[in-house]
Amino acid sequence: PGNPKQAAPKPAQQAATLLKVKDVRLTYKIKSGFARARELEVLKGISLNVARGETLGIVGESGCGKSTLARAIAGLIPITSGNISFDGQDVGSLTAPEWRAMRKRVQVVFQDPYGSLNPRRRVGAIIGEPFRIHNLASGAVRKREVCQLMELVGLNPEHYNRFPSEFSGGQRQRIGVARALALQPDLLILDEPVSALDVSIQAQILNLMQDIQDEMGLTYLFISHDLTVVRHMCDTIAVMDGGRIIEMAKTEDIFNSPREDYTRTLLAASH
Ligand code: ADP
Ligand code: MG
Repeated sequence: PGNPKQAAPKPAQQAATLLKVKDVRLTYKIKSGFARARELEVLKGISLNVARGETLGIVGESGCGKSTLARAIAGLIPITSGNISFDGQDVGSLTAPEWRAMRKRVQVVFQDPYGSLNPRRRVGAIIGEPFRIHNLASGAVRKREVCQLMELVGLNPEHYNRFPSEFSGGQRQRIGVARALALQPDLLILDEPVSALDVSIQAQILNLMQDIQDEMGLTYLFISHDLTVVRHMCDTIAVMDGGRIIEMAKTEDIFNSPREDYTRTLLAASH
């Protein structure tokens, strides 16, 4: 020990650009009975970069491919071509263990807090699910972690044994957020996180997301069809149309001097 010639441990990798998406294409193959499979190209060459700590918004009309992009970045569906790199590593070239480790660092909060929470499981088990899947923290340790997560998102830890149906819509979305934060991710993909909620509740959840980001230094990919929400949350906005990003700029530039007619149409529709 104490050999001065020994190399110093490498610092943890800290690329300034956390997520790089380059020329990503994705084609769904749709099988229907005996008919030949149809192909539907949904992502048509998407490129974007997200800096560490930034919130990038993705806006676009329903069906333009936002959720598909979210699922592809989270590794939930395979891309057809192109490149996704996370923290300087090409996701496509990772070994299986590296890929599993990467998956912990990217989590998704889905729109529908009803659909994504198992109605037959207690909230403590739902929030603790990532620990179970990845064989982390068990027993009393896991329970303590889950209660801390509940407090972090503004849920009463005494409600640990309740079922999702015993919570309001906003509280259910808090459950989804707590579950997404369990493994302390670097990137949180928020896919229409408040679209299913009443407007008054939307503000509470958005404020919670901002507080959590400040506290934990998270990077957000914030997906929404609602420009008002995106303006409130995002540093940079990418406008998507028909599987392409047609314009990407700082939030204020998108609102004050949009370059594309399509963006102007979206802005006009949101007033
Ligand atoms: P958005 O989130 O912007 O509303 P989606 O990514 O959900 O858009 O959908 C984009 C297009 O891909 C739509 O035409 C949708 O019908 C189609 N699509 C979505 N998921 C699938 C799937 N699993 N298989 C086939 N087509 C799909
Ligand atoms: Mg969607």
